[in-house]
Amino acid sequence: MSENKLKTEIKCLSIEELKVALQEMGEKPFRAGQIFQWLHTPVTSFDEMTNLSKPLRAKLEERFLLTVPVCARKQISQVDGTRKYLWQLHDGDCVESVLMKYEHGNTVCVSTQVGCRMGCKFCASGLFGLKRHLSAGEILDEVLFIQKDCGEPVHNIVLMGTGEPLDNYDNVLKFLHLVSCAGGIQIGQRHISLSTSGLADKIELLAQEKLQITLSISLHAPDDESRSSIMPVDKRYPVARLMQACNHYFDTTGRRISYEYMMARGKTDRPWQAERLAALLRGRPAHVNLIPLNPVKESPLQPSSRETVRKFQQILERNGITATVRRKLGPDIDAACGQLRRRTLEEGER
Ligand code: SAH
Ligand code: SF4
Repeated sequence: MSENKLKTEIKCLSIEELKVALQEMGEKPFRAGQIFQWLHTPVTSFDEMTNLSKPLRAKLEERFLLTVPVCARKQISQVDGTRKYLWQLHDGDCVESVLMKYEHGNTVCVSTQVGCRMGCKFCASGLFGLKRHLSAGEILDEVLFIQKDCGEPVHNIVLMGTGEPLDNYDNVLKFLHLVSCAGGIQIGQRHISLSTSGLADKIELLAQEKLQITLSISLHAPDDESRSSIMPVDKRYPVARLMQACNHYFDTTGRRISYEYMMARGKTDRPWQAERLAALLRGRPAHVNLIPLNPVKESPLQPSSRETVRKFQQILERNGITATVRRKLGPDIDAACGQLRRRTLEEGER
């Protein structure tokens, strides 16, 4: 394992970086294209790269680490076919990902970190803090190995699993390029959504990349008092500062922003909060997703009633803001992200 740590993870390399590495090894750079293609399939060893010579495969093995996640647990919903995976990584850490079958295609929800340090009060992913970042290749692996397991192509990706993607900025950016570039699995950036708890400075940095992805903001409350009581990040980047970053993002990229709004009884679902949210978003191209809170046992927060959610939605729509209520997928499995990993960690402790 310590030897692995010294090796470069080959799946993190772009095709250009691979060419340079091959040249340094005294190999023909055109091999980079072949290797890159293999790396974007769920191969489990260099020996499977059968169009490469044996000596070259041995050299690659010696120099690089080929990450291969092992499926430690899998749950399949009998209701809608949603699949939840727990992957064991090369160093023993675990992360989870979910495959959702929507009418508009297979969507994979990937984790970007082992744990999370943002400490949102309602979230199972953050309960154990941050263990480590995932590399670009490890995030890509989640998609590759789900395609292998389900035998179907993945059409959309959402970065909404465990972790705060913008807290792992460089690796996430690299992943976005790898997964959408020519020669790989080429998932168009318009089919990718990145969800953030609101790291305003990183949102502004991301704007400069001018990607075609959809940025999704976990807003959850329009006022700092409520928001900071459930999301510590609000103390660092209060709502006004976050909205300033969102404006900048839209002005720079021209991409409409999506706002996630979690409905927590008596906390975020009051009619004045709907009015305040509408006022906040007025005049901005925005879409609001109302998500019923998924209760976690460590938190007293409870979901709002259907009736309250409907009323909240009506207030928004009356004010000209489009809002949809997100359908809950996989109701019979540990649906909320972080729950499968948490359950497994707890069982390990017993
Ligand atoms: N860290 C990023 C992305 C991962 S969380 C973020 O926070 O945006 C993905 C989404 O799930 C976020 O909108 C988050 O607020 C939401 N979420 C987390 N725990 C939840 C729960 N118990 N119920 C409903 N939504 C939850
Ligand atoms: Fe981290 Fe997102 Fe969970 Fe907050 S909601 S703790 S940012 S994963």
